[in-house]
Amino acid sequence: MSKRVLVLPGDNIGSEIVAEAVKVLEAINRQRDLAIQLNWGVLGGAALDTYGNPCPQETLDSARDADAILLGAVGGPQWDHYGRELRPESGLLRIRSELELFANLRPAIMYPQLAGASSLKPEVVAGLDILIVRELVGGIYFGEPRGIRTLDNGEREGYNTYKYSESEIRRIGKVAFEAAMVRDKRLCSVDKSNVLEATIVWKDVISEMASDYPEVELSHLYVDNAAMQLVRQPKQFDVLVTGNMFGDILSDTAAMLTGSIGMLPSASLDQYGGGMYEPCHGSAPDIAGQGIANPLATILSVAMMLRYSLGSPDAAVIIEHAVSRVLDRGLRTTDIYTPGTEQVSTIAMGDAVVAELQAAELSMNG
Ligand code: NAD
Repeated sequence: MSKRVLVLPGDNIGSEIVAEAVKVLEAINRQRDLAIQLNWGVLGGAALDTYGNPCPQETLDSARDADAILLGAVGGPQWDHYGRELRPESGLLRIRSELELFANLRPAIMYPQLAGASSLKPEVVAGLDILIVRELVGGIYFGEPRGIRTLDNGEREGYNTYKYSESEIRRIGKVAFEAAMVRDKRLCSVDKSNVLEATIVWKDVISEMASDYPEVELSHLYVDNAAMQLVRQPKQFDVLVTGNMFGDILSDTAAMLTGSIGMLPSASLDQYGGGMYEPCHGSAPDIAGQGIANPLATILSVAMMLRYSLGSPDAAVIIEHAVSRVLDRGLRTTDIYTPGTEQVSTIAMGDAVVAELQAAELSMNG
């Protein structure tokens, strides 16, 4: 039976990196007869320009119809003058929320070939393999009431609401404990329960769940300490679970451990295994149109899509090996370049991954 993938390139570097990821997806589709059909749509600024809405109904309908979604990134200064509701980023929050993509998996893996590209000492990051599980459709990014109001004294005041219900915490906790069970069985829950009531409930619920997973060693850290530990001794972690805002920030920190945010894929899953796959980075307007963006995070997101939503874990491994071999060959986009390696464009990086897939197939058949 065929599988449908909705492709949403998004804005700025979104179309450049997605073009390379699609090349890789089409190559593996042909090689392995995966019967994947691609459909295209718009989200973010591109959708705002076409439909006057950053998340139009047409996109939501196609997304609901798809087995998985591949997204580039949205946003940019072109749309900064719009009010919050119309901003491209609101389109992204809306599609995540409408599709109930509550579980965001962000693996941060240090490819040994890139140890020199990290801003941390190689011995601190060598062999790093952590998974950040971020709650994606709750917390302060969605809590109501929210807004900007004018006080009696005439000054403006911005306000947001940070809340999590027990059921919201339980469903993301389950994903995190289960992820830990198939890894090193260590889970660290990150909160700020010394200050925020919402995270007192978070800590209580995650602690209660631990009795269902006796093999998992559960620990807790306040978010400020977690941020410090991530750069001090990141290899102490296996799986981290946290709410929407803390996860957003900590996963960008984790990105830099790996050398570049251009290396970090992500999966945002619903409870039925459907999901949206995108790099952890944004639309990088500062480098858009220059052909230098790193497409590997998006290509690795395709691998996650094959593993989690399209039932082809073998194809995922083949792509991950191809990426590793490209790095072995010394090919680097600007963000991961170090002296002695070869600097290549976005397109050349995508082509190199496809060439490695073809070489792997030839050696398998030969
Ligand atoms: P960003 O992630 O776009 O860029 C941060 C830095 O990383 C920039 O210097 C950029 O050049 C670099 N970078 C990012 N991706 C790269 C890649 N693939 N290769 C090489 N370098 C890369 O974050 P930002 O500058 O804070 O945000 C830019 C826009 O993206 C904003 O409009 C923001 O709202 C939006 N954004 C979107 C998403 C998303 O779509 N998921 C996530 C974060 C930010």
